[in-house]
Amino acid sequence: MNSFFKNLFFSSFFIGIISLLADKRPNILFVFTDDHAPHAIGAYNGWLKSVNPTPVIDKLASEGMLFVNSFCSNSICGPSRAVIQTGKHSHKNGFMNNGNTFDWNQQTFPKLLQKAGYQTAIYGKSHLKGKPQGYDDWAVLPGQGLYYNPDMIFPEGKRRLEGYCTDLVTDLAVNWLNNKRSDEKPFMLMVQHKAPHRNWMPALRHLDLYADISIPEPATLFDDWQDNAPGARVQELEIDRHMDINYDLFLNLTPDYNQPPSQKSQDRSAWHNMKRMTQEQLKVWRDHYSPRDKEFNEAKLSGKELVRWKFQRYAKNYLRCVKGVDESLERLQKELINLGLDKNTIVIYSSDQGFYIGDHGWYDKRWMYEESLKMPLIVKWPGVTKPQSRQMELVQNLDYAQTFLEIAGASQPKDMQGRSLVPLLKGETPKNWRKEIYYHYYEYPSVHMIPCHYGIRTKRHKLMHFYQFDKEWEMYDLKTDPDELSNIYGQKKSLLLQKKLKKRLTYLRNFYEDDSDVTIRPDYIEKFRKKS
Ligand code: CA
Repeated sequence: MNSFFKNLFFSSFFIGIISLLADKRPNILFVFTDDHAPHAIGAYNGWLKSVNPTPVIDKLASEGMLFVNSFCSNSICGPSRAVIQTGKHSHKNGFMNNGNTFDWNQQTFPKLLQKAGYQTAIYGKSHLKGKPQGYDDWAVLPGQGLYYNPDMIFPEGKRRLEGYCTDLVTDLAVNWLNNKRSDEKPFMLMVQHKAPHRNWMPALRHLDLYADISIPEPATLFDDWQDNAPGARVQELEIDRHMDINYDLFLNLTPDYNQPPSQKSQDRSAWHNMKRMTQEQLKVWRDHYSPRDKEFNEAKLSGKELVRWKFQRYAKNYLRCVKGVDESLERLQKELINLGLDKNTIVIYSSDQGFYIGDHGWYDKRWMYEESLKMPLIVKWPGVTKPQSRQMELVQNLDYAQTFLEIAGASQPKDMQGRSLVPLLKGETPKNWRKEIYYHYYEYPSVHMIPCHYGIRTKRHKLMHFYQFDKEWEMYDLKTDPDELSNIYGQKKSLLLQKKLKKRLTYLRNFYEDDSDVTIRPDYIEKFRKKS
Protein backbone atom coordinates (compact mmCIF):
# COMPACT_ATOMS: atom_id res chain seq x y z
CA MET A 1 0.00 0.00 0.00
CA ASN A 2 1.52 3.36 -0.93
CA SER A 3 1.55 6.08 1.70
CA PHE A 4 -1.47 7.97 0.22
CA PHE A 5 -3.74 4.90 0.44
CA LYS A 6 -2.25 3.96 3.77
CA ASN A 7 -3.15 7.40 5.17
CA LEU A 8 -6.59 7.23 3.59
CA PHE A 9 -7.17 3.78 5.04
CA PHE A 10 -6.07 4.76 8.53
CA SER A 11 -7.94 8.07 8.57
CA SER A 12 -11.16 6.38 7.36
CA PHE A 13 -10.62 3.69 9.96
CA PHE A 14 -10.11 6.34 12.66
CA ILE A 15 -13.19 8.36 11.64
CA GLY A 16 -15.18 5.13 11.55
CA ILE A 17 -14.13 4.29 15.11
CA ILE A 18 -14.95 7.82 16.28
CA SER A 19 -18.42 7.79 14.73
CA LEU A 20 -19.05 4.34 16.16
CA LEU A 21 -18.10 5.69 19.58
CA ALA A 22 -20.10 8.88 18.98
CA ASP A 23 -23.22 6.85 18.25
CA LYS A 24 -23.00 5.08 21.56
CA ARG A 25 -22.11 7.98 23.83
CA PRO A 26 -25.13 9.20 25.78
CA ASN A 27 -26.88 12.52 25.25
CA ILE A 28 -27.25 14.83 28.21
CA LEU A 29 -30.38 16.84 29.01
CA PHE A 30 -29.42 19.15 31.87
CA VAL A 31 -32.41 21.00 33.33
CA PHE A 32 -31.17 23.68 35.69
CA THR A 33 -33.41 26.10 37.55
CA ASP A 34 -32.83 29.12 39.73
CA ASP A 35 -33.30 29.09 43.52
CA HIS A 36 -35.18 25.80 43.72
CA ALA A 37 -34.48 24.51 47.22
CA PRO A 38 -34.38 20.73 47.72
CA HIS A 39 -36.99 21.01 50.46
CA ALA A 40 -39.43 22.26 47.81
CA ILE A 41 -39.08 18.93 45.98
CA GLY A 42 -41.25 16.06 47.17
CA ALA A 43 -38.52 13.46 46.70
CA TYR A 44 -36.24 15.34 49.11
CA ASN A 45 -38.73 14.75 51.87
CA GLY A 46 -38.60 18.26 53.35
CA TRP A 47 -41.32 20.02 55.33
CA LEU A 48 -43.01 21.13 52.08
CA LYS A 49 -43.47 17.52 50.97
CA SER A 50 -47.16 17.44 51.90
CA VAL A 51 -47.89 20.13 49.30
CA ASN A 52 -46.73 17.70 46.59
CA PRO A 53 -45.10 20.44 44.52
CA THR A 54 -43.09 18.32 42.06
CA PRO A 55 -44.66 15.05 40.85
CA VAL A 56 -42.52 14.98 37.68
CA ILE A 57 -39.20 15.64 39.42
CA ASP A 58 -40.20 13.04 42.04
CA LYS A 59 -40.79 10.51 39.28
CA LEU A 60 -37.35 11.26 37.85
CA ALA A 61 -35.91 10.55 41.32
CA SER A 62 -37.81 7.25 41.52
CA GLU A 63 -36.32 6.23 38.17
CA GLY A 64 -32.77 7.41 38.92
CA MET A 65 -30.40 8.59 41.64
CA LEU A 66 -31.09 11.37 44.16
CA PHE A 67 -28.03 13.02 45.74
CA VAL A 68 -28.93 13.70 49.37
CA ASN A 69 -25.69 15.52 50.23
CA SER A 70 -25.45 17.86 47.24
CA PHE A 71 -24.05 21.36 47.88
CA CYS A 72 -23.01 24.54 46.12
CA SER A 73 -19.67 26.22 46.78
CA ASN A 74 -20.95 29.84 46.76
CA SER A 75 -24.69 30.24 47.21
CA ILE A 76 -25.65 32.78 44.57
CA CYS A 77 -26.84 32.68 40.96
CA GLY A 78 -23.96 33.80 38.69
CA PRO A 79 -21.12 32.29 40.74
CA SER A 80 -22.82 28.87 40.93
CA ARG A 81 -23.13 28.83 37.13
CA ALA A 82 -19.50 29.90 36.69
CA VAL A 83 -18.38 27.02 38.93
CA ILE A 84 -20.39 24.61 36.76
CA GLN A 85 -18.94 26.02 33.51
CA THR A 86 -15.35 25.74 34.69
CA GLY A 87 -15.16 23.03 37.37
CA LYS A 88 -13.29 25.58 39.48
CA HIS A 89 -14.10 27.43 42.68
CA SER A 90 -15.14 31.10 42.38
CA HIS A 91 -11.68 32.48 43.23
CA LYS A 92 -10.20 30.47 40.32
CA ASN A 93 -12.83 31.22 37.66
CA GLY A 94 -12.99 34.93 38.56
CA PHE A 95 -16.78 35.17 39.03
CA MET A 96 -16.98 35.62 42.78
CA ASN A 97 -20.11 37.75 43.05
CA ASN A 98 -22.98 38.85 40.81
CA GLY A 99 -21.19 42.14 40.09
CA ASN A 100 -18.42 40.29 38.21
CA THR A 101 -18.39 39.50 34.49
CA PHE A 102 -17.57 35.97 33.41
CA ASP A 103 -14.50 35.59 31.20
CA TRP A 104 -15.93 33.43 28.42
CA ASN A 105 -12.44 33.04 26.90
CA GLN A 106 -11.42 30.67 29.67
CA GLN A 107 -11.64 26.88 29.57
CA THR A 108 -15.22 25.65 30.05
CA PHE A 109 -16.75 22.20 29.88
CA PRO A 110 -19.07 22.94 26.88
CA LYS A 111 -16.04 23.94 24.80
CA LEU A 112 -14.33 20.68 25.74
CA LEU A 113 -17.49 18.70 24.93
CA GLN A 114 -17.60 20.31 21.49
CA LYS A 115 -13.97 19.27 20.94
CA ALA A 116 -14.94 15.76 21.99
CA GLY A 117 -17.60 15.68 19.26
CA TYR A 118 -20.73 16.72 21.17
CA GLN A 119 -23.33 19.15 19.88
CA THR A 120 -24.13 21.70 22.59
CA ALA A 121 -26.96 24.19 23.20
CA ILE A 122 -28.16 26.40 26.06
CA TYR A 123 -31.51 28.16 26.52
CA GLY A 124 -32.73 30.38 29.33
CA LYS A 125 -30.94 32.14 32.14
CA SER A 126 -27.16 32.40 31.82
CA HIS A 127 -26.49 35.19 34.33
CA LEU A 128 -22.83 35.23 33.30
CA LYS A 129 -23.04 38.32 31.06
CA GLY A 130 -21.50 38.42 27.59
CA LYS A 131 -22.14 36.06 24.69
CA PRO A 132 -22.00 32.39 25.66
CA GLN A 133 -19.08 30.45 24.18
CA GLY A 134 -18.92 26.72 23.66
CA TYR A 135 -22.47 26.32 22.34
CA ASP A 136 -23.61 25.44 18.80
CA ASP A 137 -26.85 27.26 19.50
CA TRP A 138 -28.07 29.46 22.33
CA ALA A 139 -30.62 32.01 23.51
CA VAL A 140 -30.26 33.65 26.91
CA LEU A 141 -32.22 36.08 29.06
CA PRO A 142 -30.55 39.44 29.60
CA GLY A 143 -29.50 39.56 33.28
CA GLN A 144 -32.19 38.14 35.55
CA GLY A 145 -34.76 38.07 32.75
CA LEU A 146 -38.51 38.58 33.11
CA TYR A 147 -41.34 36.10 33.75
CA TYR A 148 -43.77 37.59 31.21
CA ASN A 149 -43.04 38.52 27.58
CA PRO A 150 -39.28 38.55 28.18
CA ASP A 151 -36.54 39.74 25.89
CA MET A 152 -34.06 37.07 24.90
CA ILE A 153 -30.64 37.43 23.33
CA PHE A 154 -29.99 35.17 20.34
CA PRO A 155 -26.70 34.92 18.38
CA GLU A 156 -28.24 37.31 15.84
CA GLY A 157 -29.51 39.81 18.43
CA LYS A 158 -32.17 40.59 21.04
CA ARG A 159 -35.88 40.07 20.54
CA ARG A 160 -39.00 40.02 22.67
CA LEU A 161 -40.98 36.81 23.01
CA GLU A 162 -44.66 36.68 23.98
CA GLY A 163 -45.64 34.33 26.76
CA TYR A 164 -44.45 32.91 30.07
CA CYS A 165 -40.71 32.53 30.45
CA THR A 166 -40.59 28.88 31.63
CA ASP A 167 -42.80 27.83 28.69
CA LEU A 168 -40.82 29.91 26.18
CA VAL A 169 -37.49 28.43 27.26
CA THR A 170 -39.00 24.93 27.01
CA ASP A 171 -40.31 25.79 23.50
CA LEU A 172 -36.78 26.78 22.41
CA ALA A 173 -35.34 23.50 23.73
CA VAL A 174 -38.10 21.40 22.11
CA ASN A 175 -37.57 23.24 18.84
CA TRP A 176 -33.83 22.54 19.04
CA LEU A 177 -34.41 18.84 19.66
CA ASN A 178 -36.68 18.65 16.62
CA ASN A 179 -35.10 21.02 14.14
CA LYS A 180 -31.53 21.91 15.01
CA ARG A 181 -30.10 18.74 16.57
CA SER A 182 -27.74 16.65 14.51
CA ASP A 183 -28.32 12.89 14.24
CA GLU A 184 -24.58 12.43 13.74
CA LYS A 185 -23.50 13.62 17.17
CA PRO A 186 -24.48 13.06 20.79
CA PHE A 187 -25.74 16.24 22.45
CA MET A 188 -25.57 18.26 25.62
CA LEU A 189 -28.71 20.42 25.99
CA MET A 190 -28.90 22.88 28.89
CA VAL A 191 -32.36 24.19 29.79
CA GLN A 192 -31.89 26.91 32.40
CA HIS A 193 -35.08 28.36 33.83
CA LYS A 194 -35.43 31.68 35.59
CA ALA A 195 -38.10 30.14 37.84
CA PRO A 196 -38.54 30.01 40.78
CA HIS A 197 -36.33 33.12 41.26
CA ARG A 198 -37.68 36.36 42.78
CA ASN A 199 -40.16 38.00 42.04
CA TRP A 200 -41.99 34.68 41.97
CA MET A 201 -44.53 35.47 39.23
CA PRO A 202 -46.44 32.27 38.42
CA ALA A 203 -47.90 31.28 35.05
CA LEU A 204 -51.53 32.40 34.67
CA ARG A 205 -52.72 28.78 34.59
CA HIS A 206 -51.15 28.21 38.03
CA LEU A 207 -52.52 31.26 39.86
CA ASP A 208 -55.28 29.28 41.56
CA LEU A 209 -53.02 26.39 42.52
CA TYR A 210 -52.81 25.99 46.35
CA ALA A 211 -55.43 28.77 46.64
CA ASP A 212 -57.54 26.77 49.09
CA ILE A 213 -54.86 25.21 51.23
CA SER A 214 -52.57 26.50 53.91
CA ILE A 215 -48.87 25.88 53.24
CA PRO A 216 -47.23 24.34 56.34
CA GLU A 217 -44.92 26.80 58.09
CA PRO A 218 -41.25 25.99 58.63
CA ALA A 219 -40.36 25.26 62.28
CA THR A 220 -37.96 28.23 62.29
CA LEU A 221 -40.28 30.91 60.83
CA PHE A 222 -39.89 32.99 63.99
CA ASP A 223 -36.21 32.33 64.65
CA ASP A 224 -34.52 35.15 66.59
CA TRP A 225 -30.93 34.06 65.72
CA GLN A 226 -29.74 34.35 69.31
CA ASP A 227 -27.11 31.64 68.97
CA ASN A 228 -25.67 32.85 65.67
CA ALA A 229 -22.78 35.19 64.94
CA PRO A 230 -23.98 38.84 64.76
CA GLY A 231 -24.33 38.75 60.94
CA ALA A 232 -27.51 36.68 61.22
CA ARG A 233 -29.18 39.44 63.25
CA VAL A 234 -28.32 42.34 60.96
CA GLN A 235 -29.06 40.79 57.56
CA GLU A 236 -31.75 42.18 55.25
CA LEU A 237 -33.68 39.14 54.07
CA GLU A 238 -36.44 38.76 56.60
CA ILE A 239 -40.00 38.07 55.51
CA ASP A 240 -41.08 40.33 58.37
CA ARG A 241 -38.90 43.41 57.91
CA HIS A 242 -37.54 43.19 54.36
CA MET A 243 -39.90 41.35 52.04
CA ASP A 244 -41.91 44.09 50.34
CA ILE A 245 -45.64 43.59 50.50
CA ASN A 246 -46.26 45.41 47.22
CA TYR A 247 -43.26 44.69 44.98
CA ASP A 248 -42.54 41.16 46.22
CA LEU A 249 -46.08 39.99 46.98
CA PHE A 250 -48.00 42.08 44.42
CA LEU A 251 -50.41 43.55 47.01
CA ASN A 252 -52.38 46.37 45.36
CA LEU A 253 -49.71 46.36 42.64
CA THR A 254 -50.75 47.55 39.20
CA PRO A 255 -48.75 48.79 36.20
CA ASP A 256 -49.62 52.41 37.08
CA TYR A 257 -48.47 51.92 40.67
CA ASN A 258 -46.51 54.99 41.52
CA GLN A 259 -45.69 54.87 45.21
CA PRO A 260 -42.12 55.21 46.36
CA PRO A 261 -40.59 51.86 47.31
CA SER A 262 -40.60 51.03 51.00
CA GLN A 263 -36.90 50.30 50.93
CA LYS A 264 -34.13 52.12 49.08
CA SER A 265 -32.83 49.07 47.25
CA GLN A 266 -36.25 47.52 46.59
CA ASP A 267 -36.41 45.04 43.71
CA ARG A 268 -39.19 46.39 41.48
CA SER A 269 -38.95 43.80 38.72
CA ALA A 270 -42.50 42.46 39.18
CA TRP A 271 -43.91 45.95 38.72
CA HIS A 272 -41.71 46.58 35.65
CA ASN A 273 -42.82 43.22 34.26
CA MET A 274 -46.50 44.07 34.74
CA LYS A 275 -46.04 47.04 32.42
CA ARG A 276 -45.07 44.55 29.68
CA MET A 277 -48.04 42.24 30.26
CA THR A 278 -50.89 42.32 27.76
CA GLN A 279 -54.38 43.45 28.81
CA GLU A 280 -55.55 39.82 28.59
CA GLN A 281 -52.72 38.63 30.83
CA LEU A 282 -53.34 41.44 33.31
CA LYS A 283 -57.03 40.64 33.49
CA VAL A 284 -56.40 37.05 34.58
CA TRP A 285 -53.73 38.27 37.02
CA ARG A 286 -56.03 40.87 38.62
CA ASP A 287 -58.98 38.49 38.76
CA HIS A 288 -56.87 36.27 40.96
CA TYR A 289 -55.20 38.81 43.24
CA SER A 290 -57.80 41.61 43.56
CA PRO A 291 -60.32 39.80 45.80
CA ARG A 292 -57.46 38.49 47.96
CA ASP A 293 -55.96 41.98 48.23
CA LYS A 294 -59.34 43.34 49.29
CA GLU A 295 -59.64 40.69 51.98
CA PHE A 296 -56.14 41.53 53.22
CA ASN A 297 -56.77 45.30 53.23
CA GLU A 298 -59.85 44.77 55.39
CA ALA A 299 -58.19 42.37 57.81
CA LYS A 300 -55.59 44.92 59.04
CA LEU A 301 -53.09 42.27 60.13
CA SER A 302 -50.03 43.06 62.20
CA GLY A 303 -47.19 41.34 64.05
CA LYS A 304 -46.93 37.57 63.68
CA GLU A 305 -50.23 37.35 61.80
CA LEU A 306 -48.88 39.66 59.13
CA VAL A 307 -45.69 37.57 58.84
CA ARG A 308 -47.85 34.46 58.48
CA TRP A 309 -49.91 36.09 55.73
CA LYS A 310 -46.76 37.19 53.89
CA PHE A 311 -45.29 33.70 54.21
CA GLN A 312 -48.43 32.12 52.73
CA ARG A 313 -48.52 34.43 49.74
CA TYR A 314 -44.78 34.11 49.14
CA ALA A 315 -44.65 30.31 49.51
CA LYS A 316 -47.68 29.83 47.25
CA ASN A 317 -46.25 32.00 44.48
CA TYR A 318 -42.86 30.30 44.80
CA LEU A 319 -44.41 26.83 44.58
CA ARG A 320 -46.56 27.90 41.61
CA CYS A 321 -43.36 28.91 39.80
CA VAL A 322 -41.92 25.50 40.73
CA LYS A 323 -45.01 23.88 39.17
CA GLY A 324 -44.14 25.53 35.85
CA VAL A 325 -40.66 24.02 36.04
CA ASP A 326 -42.05 20.59 36.88
CA GLU A 327 -44.29 20.76 33.81
CA SER A 328 -41.34 21.81 31.66
CA LEU A 329 -39.42 18.69 32.70
CA GLU A 330 -42.43 16.57 31.77
CA ARG A 331 -42.66 18.15 28.30
CA LEU A 332 -38.94 17.73 27.66
CA GLN A 333 -38.98 14.08 28.68
CA LYS A 334 -42.05 13.42 26.50
CA GLU A 335 -40.18 14.95 23.58
CA LEU A 336 -37.22 12.63 24.19
CA ILE A 337 -39.62 9.67 24.02
CA ASN A 338 -41.31 11.02 20.85
CA LEU A 339 -37.92 11.33 19.17
CA GLY A 340 -36.72 7.92 20.36
CA LEU A 341 -33.94 9.53 22.38
CA ASP A 342 -35.02 8.61 25.91
CA LYS A 343 -33.07 5.34 26.18
CA ASN A 344 -29.74 7.00 25.48
CA THR A 345 -30.22 10.37 27.19
CA ILE A 346 -29.12 11.17 30.71
CA VAL A 347 -31.65 13.49 32.35
CA ILE A 348 -30.36 15.72 35.12
CA TYR A 349 -32.34 18.05 37.36
CA SER A 350 -30.54 20.61 39.49
CA SER A 351 -30.77 24.23 40.62
CA ASP A 352 -28.04 26.80 41.28
CA GLN A 353 -28.46 26.74 45.06
CA GLY A 354 -31.08 26.26 47.75
CA PHE A 355 -33.34 28.93 49.20
CA TYR A 356 -35.08 30.04 52.39
CA ILE A 357 -38.82 29.56 52.11
CA GLY A 358 -39.51 31.18 55.44
CA ASP A 359 -36.84 29.00 57.09
CA HIS A 360 -35.19 31.09 59.87
CA GLY A 361 -37.73 33.80 58.98
CA TRP A 362 -35.94 34.47 55.68
CA TYR A 363 -36.17 34.43 51.90
CA ASP A 364 -33.18 34.44 49.49
CA LYS A 365 -29.93 32.43 49.83
CA ARG A 366 -26.19 33.35 50.24
CA TRP A 367 -25.60 31.82 53.69
CA MET A 368 -23.78 28.56 54.30
CA TYR A 369 -26.71 27.35 56.44
CA GLU A 370 -28.33 24.17 55.13
CA GLU A 371 -31.36 25.55 53.27
CA SER A 372 -29.26 27.62 50.85
CA LEU A 373 -26.09 25.47 50.87
CA LYS A 374 -27.98 22.47 49.53
CA MET A 375 -28.62 22.01 45.82
CA PRO A 376 -31.04 19.49 44.38
CA LEU A 377 -29.32 16.92 42.15
CA ILE A 378 -31.26 14.09 40.55
CA VAL A 379 -29.83 12.01 37.70
CA LYS A 380 -31.50 9.38 35.57
CA TRP A 381 -28.96 7.58 33.40
CA PRO A 382 -30.82 4.75 31.67
CA GLY A 383 -29.12 1.43 32.32
CA VAL A 384 -26.59 2.97 34.74
CA THR A 385 -28.26 4.65 37.72
CA LYS A 386 -30.22 2.24 39.87
CA PRO A 387 -33.90 3.22 40.14
CA GLN A 388 -34.82 4.79 43.50
CA SER A 389 -31.20 5.05 44.60
CA ARG A 390 -30.19 7.66 47.17
CA GLN A 391 -26.57 8.75 47.10
CA MET A 392 -25.17 9.86 50.47
CA GLU A 393 -21.64 10.93 49.43
CA LEU A 394 -20.73 14.63 49.52
CA VAL A 395 -20.94 16.23 46.07
CA GLN A 396 -20.83 19.81 44.74
CA ASN A 397 -21.59 21.82 41.63
CA LEU A 398 -17.78 21.87 41.35
CA ASP A 399 -18.05 18.25 40.14
CA TYR A 400 -20.45 18.70 37.22
CA ALA A 401 -17.90 19.74 34.54
CA GLN A 402 -15.70 16.69 35.10
CA THR A 403 -18.76 14.44 35.26
CA PHE A 404 -19.93 15.66 31.84
CA LEU A 405 -16.44 15.18 30.41
CA GLU A 406 -16.15 11.62 31.70
CA ILE A 407 -19.61 10.80 30.33
CA ALA A 408 -18.38 12.02 26.93
CA GLY A 409 -15.18 9.98 27.22
CA ALA A 410 -13.12 13.20 27.15
CA SER A 411 -10.11 13.80 29.38
CA GLN A 412 -10.46 15.95 32.51
CA PRO A 413 -8.07 18.93 32.66
CA LYS A 414 -5.74 18.84 35.66
CA ASP A 415 -6.66 22.39 36.72
CA MET A 416 -10.32 21.51 37.32
CA GLN A 417 -10.99 21.23 41.06
CA GLY A 418 -13.92 18.84 41.33
CA ARG A 419 -14.33 15.12 40.82
CA SER A 420 -16.34 13.20 38.27
CA LEU A 421 -19.55 11.77 39.73
CA VAL A 422 -19.59 8.92 37.21
CA PRO A 423 -18.39 6.25 39.72
CA LEU A 424 -21.10 7.35 42.19
CA LEU A 425 -23.72 7.21 39.43
CA LYS A 426 -22.62 3.63 38.76
CA GLY A 427 -23.11 2.84 42.45
CA GLU A 428 -19.40 2.66 43.24
CA THR A 429 -17.77 4.88 45.87
CA PRO A 430 -14.06 5.50 45.37
CA LYS A 431 -12.19 4.81 48.65
CA ASN A 432 -10.70 8.30 48.75
CA TRP A 433 -13.98 10.16 48.10
CA ARG A 434 -14.05 13.58 49.82
CA LYS A 435 -14.95 13.74 53.52
CA GLU A 436 -15.87 17.43 53.49
CA ILE A 437 -16.90 20.22 51.14
CA TYR A 438 -15.54 23.78 51.01
CA TYR A 439 -17.60 26.97 50.73
CA HIS A 440 -16.82 30.68 50.29
CA TYR A 441 -19.34 33.54 49.86
CA TYR A 442 -18.08 36.98 48.79
CA GLU A 443 -20.82 39.57 48.25
CA TYR A 444 -20.67 42.18 51.06
CA PRO A 445 -21.66 44.91 51.47
CA SER A 446 -24.43 44.29 48.98
CA VAL A 447 -28.12 43.44 48.63
CA HIS A 448 -29.41 41.54 51.71
CA MET A 449 -26.21 42.36 53.64
CA ILE A 450 -24.84 38.88 54.25
CA PRO A 451 -21.24 39.09 55.50
CA CYS A 452 -18.54 37.20 53.60
CA HIS A 453 -17.78 33.81 55.10
CA TYR A 454 -16.12 30.53 54.34
CA GLY A 455 -16.49 27.12 55.90
CA ILE A 456 -16.37 23.39 55.80
CA ARG A 457 -19.14 20.78 56.03
CA THR A 458 -18.72 17.09 56.68
CA LYS A 459 -21.54 14.54 56.60
CA ARG A 460 -22.32 15.47 60.21
CA HIS A 461 -20.74 18.79 61.16
CA LYS A 462 -20.33 22.32 59.89
CA LEU A 463 -17.81 25.03 60.76
CA MET A 464 -18.25 28.58 59.42
CA HIS A 465 -15.97 31.59 59.71
CA PHE A 466 -17.37 35.12 59.37
CA TYR A 467 -13.95 36.63 58.96
CA GLN A 468 -14.67 40.28 58.20
CA PHE A 469 -15.72 41.56 61.59
CA ASP A 470 -14.76 40.12 64.93
CA LYS A 471 -13.51 36.79 63.59
CA GLU A 472 -16.84 35.17 64.44
CA TRP A 473 -17.26 31.40 64.13
CA GLU A 474 -20.25 29.08 64.13
CA MET A 475 -20.23 25.29 64.45
CA TYR A 476 -23.15 22.85 64.30
CA ASP A 477 -23.83 19.18 64.85
CA LEU A 478 -26.30 18.54 62.03
CA LYS A 479 -27.33 15.15 63.38
CA THR A 480 -28.63 16.44 66.70
CA ASP A 481 -29.44 19.96 65.44
CA PRO A 482 -30.52 19.87 61.76
CA ASP A 483 -32.01 23.39 61.94
CA GLU A 484 -28.70 24.86 63.17
CA LEU A 485 -30.15 26.56 66.23
CA SER A 486 -27.45 25.63 68.72
CA ASN A 487 -23.98 27.00 67.97
CA ILE A 488 -21.47 24.67 69.62
CA TYR A 489 -18.38 26.69 68.72
CA GLY A 490 -16.26 27.36 71.78
CA GLN A 491 -18.12 24.88 73.98
CA LYS A 492 -15.83 22.78 76.14
CA LYS A 493 -17.18 19.45 74.92
CA SER A 494 -16.69 20.52 71.27
CA LEU A 495 -13.10 21.75 71.49
CA LEU A 496 -11.49 18.60 70.11
CA LEU A 497 -13.87 18.48 67.15
CA GLN A 498 -13.44 22.22 66.63
CA LYS A 499 -9.67 21.81 66.41
CA LYS A 500 -9.99 18.95 63.95
CA LEU A 501 -12.43 20.83 61.69
CA LYS A 502 -10.26 23.97 61.74
CA LYS A 503 -7.28 21.91 60.69
CA ARG A 504 -9.23 20.41 57.79
CA LEU A 505 -10.54 23.87 56.83
CA THR A 506 -6.96 25.17 56.63
CA TYR A 507 -6.00 22.11 54.61
CA LEU A 508 -8.84 22.70 52.12
CA ARG A 509 -8.04 26.40 51.77
CA ASN A 510 -4.50 25.42 50.82
CA PHE A 511 -5.66 22.55 48.61
CA TYR A 512 -7.98 24.82 46.60
CA GLU A 513 -5.43 27.66 46.79
CA ASP A 514 -7.95 30.08 48.27
CA ASP A 515 -6.45 33.28 49.61
CA SER A 516 -9.27 35.45 48.26
CA ASP A 517 -10.67 36.81 51.56
CA VAL A 518 -12.44 40.12 51.10
CA THR A 519 -11.44 42.95 53.42
CA ILE A 520 -13.87 45.79 54.04
CA ARG A 521 -13.56 49.44 54.91
CA PRO A 522 -13.27 50.24 58.64
CA ASP A 523 -16.42 52.41 58.53
CA TYR A 524 -18.46 49.37 57.47
CA ILE A 525 -17.07 47.46 60.43
CA GLU A 526 -18.11 50.33 62.71
CA LYS A 527 -21.63 50.42 61.21
CA PHE A 528 -21.97 46.67 61.56
CA ARG A 529 -20.93 46.73 65.23
CA LYS A 530 -23.44 49.46 66.02
CA LYS A 531 -26.28 47.46 64.45
CA SER A 532 -25.42 44.12 65.99
CA1 CA B 1 -30.03 31.42 42.12
